Amino acid sequence: MKRSPVWHPFTQHALEPAMKRIAKTDGAYLIDEDGSRIIDAISSWWVITHGHRHPAIMEAIRGASETYDQVIFAEYTHEPAEELAKGLIEIAPSGLEHVFYSDSGSTAVEVALKMALGYFHNAAAPRGRICVMEHGYHGDTIGTMSAGERGVFNAAYRPLLFAVDRLPFPQAGREQETLDAFEACCVSGHVAALLIEPLVLGAGGMKMYPAGVLAELKRIAERHGSLLIADEVMTGWGRAGTLFACEQAGIVPDILCTSKGLTGGALPLAATLCTAEIFNAHLSTDRRKTFFHSSSYTANPIACAAAVANLAIWKTEPVRERTGALSEKHRQRLARFAADPRFRNVRQAGTIAALDLDVPAGGYLSDAGPRLRAFFRERKLLIRPLGNVIYLMPPYCVTDGDLDRAYDAIDEAASVFAAGKL
Ligand code: PLP
Repeated sequence: MKRSPVWHPFTQHALEPAMKRIAKTDGAYLIDEDGSRIIDAISSWWVITHGHRHPAIMEAIRGASETYDQVIFAEYTHEPAEELAKGLIEIAPSGLEHVFYSDSGSTAVEVALKMALGYFHNAAAPRGRICVMEHGYHGDTIGTMSAGERGVFNAAYRPLLFAVDRLPFPQAGREQETLDAFEACCVSGHVAALLIEPLVLGAGGMKMYPAGVLAELKRIAERHGSLLIADEVMTGWGRAGTLFACEQAGIVPDILCTSKGLTGGALPLAATLCTAEIFNAHLSTDRRKTFFHSSSYTANPIACAAAVANLAIWKTEPVRERTGALSEKHRQRLARFAADPRFRNVRQAGTIAALDLDVPAGGYLSDAGPRLRAFFRERKLLIRPLGNVIYLMPPYCVTDGDLDRAYDAIDEAASVFAAGKL
């Protein structure tokens, strides 16, 4: 059969089986061309929050497409972007007052980095260092790769990546080392911002740390006049148990990045929110102080309308009850693995559940990943372990029965793996 010309992301085409064609999406399912219903237990790379094709979001998309396609976003604005910005300011941690649109998680973070450096540059007190946390992931553009963990994913591009200061991940019982390392970086006076995934480091292996650490990092940043950029691209929209994970630490970041669940996952859109102080540092009759960033599809009106519908869902539907119930269901189901020697590090943050399969060689390139993936695929489950890290992050509409199927499959996979048959 002739090979498709499509080059898929994070895919080794020489090793992957033929791509399954998805014909339809519905609630917590992907439906393939044979009509099989596959449980989307990772919300299609963490974007789908309420479920695929939520009727109100689809209706908003249909409605907006009657009136709009793309509209240039310099010199002109439009109602969906204005309404969304107002809604975001209302719902985000209070103190964030401006909204800059882009179209993916990576661009939301690129924008944040540029805002941070622009803020200091325009204040004529330039700072050029970015601090990040070990095992972080912020996207796949050059800037966000620079800030992310270095490894096999970006080895080839290393000549293009800029240096950042890395804080050790706050291991349980050794949190002070992270705080001390940040304090030491800040003392130099060069740190423009700490860029961090609040509470859960997603692609780095669903690594979780307590809210108290985040609160303390914010205090240190404030003491040294450095900014805190919260990359809520994955943790936002209820994933970590609250609308934004920062809420659990009781902090207001200086800059907050959101994407993925912003439209309920239906269309690509991102927003970078910032304080008045950062916006005002760019507000000047001197044109050189302009925030020099744009992309063609900034604030696509149809995507903005989808996001406005998402905000309405958060206001009118019991989404918090749903995420609370899903968190509780994970808690009950994870309990059976807590003392299971086949697993390590059984953990949860709100609607995200994760556990590490105890294998001799862990890490992303561990064989365990693709073998487990194939095992789950055969059982009509979309679960993509990060190496030996198995996690579930389903849409909030997932049924108890489907969640049970996912947990039973994890249990079975561990047994088959232990028996050397996987
Ligand atoms: N930041 C975080 C925390 C993410 O998890 C991701 C993607 O998974 C990104 C940024 C990049 O988002 P995108 O893939 O939409 O560019």
